[in-house]
Amino acid sequence: MFILKGIAQLEKAIAKAKKVRPRVEFDHFGRYRVSGSKGFYTVLCKKSDNGFKTVICTCKASEKGLVCYHAAAALSLHVGLARQKPSA
Ligand SMILES: [Zn+2]
Repeated sequence: MFILKGIAQLEKAIAKAKKVRPRVEFDHFGRYRVSGSKGFYTVLCKKSDNGFKTVICTCKASEKGLVCYHAAAALSLHVGLARQKPSA
């Protein structure tokens, strides 16, 4: 899990996602399934009560607090969907 503070921290993960091109499946808003080396991982994007955007992925890297490419791939979809929401 990590707290999203800005796009800069995602740069490396986005570059990797562009290379690996994981498959991102939409589950519902804020919840995605992303293909990885060992099957699908679940990525959750949510706003915590104190206003921070937190991103949780079920892979090992994310457990250690690293920004993984699954999260980056899911976020690119999430951000696009959030823009389409009139309230966001
Ligand atoms: Zn991950």
